[in-house]
Amino acid sequence: MSLKKAPSNKCDRCGKEDYYFEVCTYCKKKVCKYCIKSSATATKTERRIICKDCWTNKKVQKKFQKPAVQVART
Ligand SMILES: [Zn+2]
Ligand SMILES: [Zn+2]
Repeated sequence: MSLKKAPSNKCDRCGKEDYYFEVCTYCKKKVCKYCIKSSATATKTERRIICKDCWTNKKVQKKFQKPAVQVART
């Protein structure tokens, strides 16, 4: 038996150990910075992360590129 704590610091996509992860907005995988294709801040509270897997899916890629919030008309 290992005395080590259960590792929760592994990337869900590539298995790499790291200290910094983001959760992909689309597949909900915890991904390291190497597996993140792109991230965008749509609003102050909403951040979008897309992993490289989702990026290869054209439908998901479109969703990512679409603006989240319609800018209020003036
Ligand atoms: Zn990774
Ligand atoms: Zn993803």
